[in-house]
Order: sequence, then C-alpha cells, then structure tokens
Amino acid sequence: MSFNIDQIRGLFPVLHQEVHGKPLIYFDNAATTQKPKAVLKALQEYYEKDNSNIHRGAHALADRATRHYEETREAVRDFIGAREAAEIIFTKGTTESINLVAKTFGRNFIGKGDEILISTMEHHSNIVPWQMVCEEKGAILKVIPITESGEIIWEEFEILLSSKTRLVSIVHASNALGTINPVKKIIDAAHAVGAKVLLDGAQSTSHLDIDVLDLNCDFLAFSTHKLYGPTGLGVLYGKREVLEEMPPFLGGGEMIKEVTFEKTTYNEIPFKFEAGTPNIADVIAFKAALDFVQSLTKPKIRAHEDALLDHANELMSGIKGFIPVGTASEKVSVLSFNINGMHPFDVGQMLDAKGIAVRTGHHCTQPLMKRFGIEGTVRASFAVYNTKSEIEKLAEGVAQIARLKNK
Ligand code: PMP
Repeated sequence: MSFNIDQIRGLFPVLHQEVHGKPLIYFDNAATTQKPKAVLKALQEYYEKDNSNIHRGAHALADRATRHYEETREAVRDFIGAREAAEIIFTKGTTESINLVAKTFGRNFIGKGDEILISTMEHHSNIVPWQMVCEEKGAILKVIPITESGEIIWEEFEILLSSKTRLVSIVHASNALGTINPVKKIIDAAHAVGAKVLLDGAQSTSHLDIDVLDLNCDFLAFSTHKLYGPTGLGVLYGKREVLEEMPPFLGGGEMIKEVTFEKTTYNEIPFKFEAGTPNIADVIAFKAALDFVQSLTKPKIRAHEDALLDHANELMSGIKGFIPVGTASEKVSVLSFNINGMHPFDVGQMLDAKGIAVRTGHHCTQPLMKRFGIEGTVRASFAVYNTKSEIEKLAEGVAQIARLKNK
C-alpha cells in the first residue's frame, strides 16, 4: 500500500466521528492504537466461520482455526526477525509477558544477592514484577539514573552492571517520554558480564524496525493493542535455549506432554507457556494488523510520525508556558508536556472539549515523574493515521489553554 494518508484514515472507522461536536483527533496512541477494518473483519469472520478450539480438534473448523492461529505466530516471527516460530509465545499483553519471565526465569535463575537492573523510566509493569522476585529471592533491584532530557546515564549503567547482574530489563522506547534507549549497546554490555536482557517493546514495536537477532536480546515483550491489533493479547519472544531452560508459567491443558497423578511432563515450546485455551480470535485477527503495518513498512511509518513530532515541537515550543518533558535526541512520536500553572488533568479536559484525545497523569511511571519532580504530564502520542493539520489544531488548543495562565 502506498503512503496515502487519506487512504490510511479511510481504513479506521473509529476516526470518523465527532466528540463534543468537534471532529475527533485521536492522540492517545501510546495507550492504545485504533484498529483497521481488516482486523475487525478478521474477528467477525473467525466467529462467523471458524470458531472452534485449536490444536486437538478432529474436524475442519478446528483445523482451519489452528492453521490461522499458527499463521499469526509465523507472521510475528517474521515481524521481529526471530529464528523460529517456537520462540513466539502468546500472552495477555506486555504485562503478562514480563510477569511470565519474572515468575519462571526469576524462579530458576535469580537467587539471593543477585541483581536485576532496570531504568528510571520503566513502566510499572517492568518494575513491580522484579520487586516481587527480589522480595521472594532476596535479590536486589538496581535502577539506572537518567538525565534531565530523559536519557539513561551510560557511565552510571556501566558502574551498576557487574557479574552479579542476572538480568537487565529495560524499556526500548519510553511511553511517558518517548526516549529510545540505546538497547543494542545495552545488550552487548549486559552479555559481556553474563546477564540476560529483556526488552519492553510495548512502545517500540509500532514505530521502529525490530530485528531480535540483530539486537540479540534474550526476551522481547509487547502488546498487540498498541500495534493496531486487538486488546487482551501480547507476545513474549524468547531465545529457544533460554525458554527451554525455564520452568512453565501456568499449569493446565495444552502445556503438558503427559499427565499422571505421580508426575507430569511438559510440552515443547511455545506450548509449554500457553496453558489453557488461548485468545484464538484475537491472535488470528492480529495477523491483519501485522499485514497492515508491513504493507506500509516501518521506515515509512516512522518518517511520517517523526515529521508529525517535529511539526508539533516546532509549533509548541513557541507557546508561552509550554514545558516539554523528555527531550531526548532519539524519540518515538510521543510529546509529553506541562503548562505552567496548570494541572495536566485540567489541560486534558480542555483539550477533550475541543475533540482532542490525549492522556494525562503519571502514565504508570510514578518513579519517573518523581525524578522530574512532577505529578504527571499531558501526553500526545502520534500514530500512522494522524495528520499535520491535527497537530496544528493541537498546538492551537494548547496555545489557547496556556494563555489562561501565561499572559
Ligand atoms: N510497558 C510500556 C512501555 C507501556 O507503554 C505499557 C502500556 N502502557 C506496558 C508496558 C503495559 O502494557 P499492557 O498494559 O498492554 O500489558
């Protein structure tokens, strides 16, 4: 598909509506993206034609559903450049993917006095599971500090990294600031001391080309709903040799090879980590989202979104009282800011009245907000279907709101 913004917008029914009597401008894409028609159609078709349980069925519908489910697994493998489809595990989302690693890798490979390294800009879902592991195992959580612009301080990272580090778990692109972390460098440094690396790809997978072999990460976690796909579904990529050594996460059907009351043997990967009936419909529909992204190509998507971010920065930086939060040199299309003298929630409400949907608050990054000495921010995050004229309306709206307190 060529990069024709009108054509792209035409694929997203939800965009074509008014809120509070104004045309909707949807800038809450870091929270969740909208879904193209092809995803909605795939969901409906699955339930209308193929609905059945997968893998063990002896009938045509189950065969079709199984084939489509496994086709998505293969499409995900291709999307992130993994070696084999068996390294792709379907979960409920980034949160569950990280918790899976915490509960399994954490159980077998992290012990008393071992260290886990995260950064100041982590989402709560990449903090809390590790705190739980540390509490259970007597391990230590260490945090890489960041600069005023929202970039990790490399020298501090090097000081914190040691032979005690078992795992570095770090966000690829920050949801609250947009910062893209130098993950390849981080992974190389971590491997040099024998640590494994988990990348939280919740925000990077929709914007950046991802090649897990080139990055050489041990784990990558992401959510499909931030990638034009359905909610309630996520992916955990793990290297075969690491996944094979990890104990199962949940016990139940599908994850077993043989069950007796005396002893159970476990299934091969990825099934060892997919206990119970999975989210079949959403997995199948996610392939349509991947096809949509692949048809546009990531470099074109990124170029479009970068241009939107540049345009926003240019227009907003001239507004009196505008305070950007997170000014890293490498960013995905996230614009976090405050208005001098105003609470972010009030700014969000006023923008909503103008038909502009943004997110306000701590963005599940309370320690990061504390680092900046703020309660929260207003966050406008851009996706493939946003336009320059929408950015201009945002800047106009922000300028009007800022004038109330900044004469
Ligand atoms: N990490 C980051 C960086 C995120 O932006 C999010 C979602 N806001 C998550 C993790 C958690 O994703 P989910 O709620 O889909 O599990």
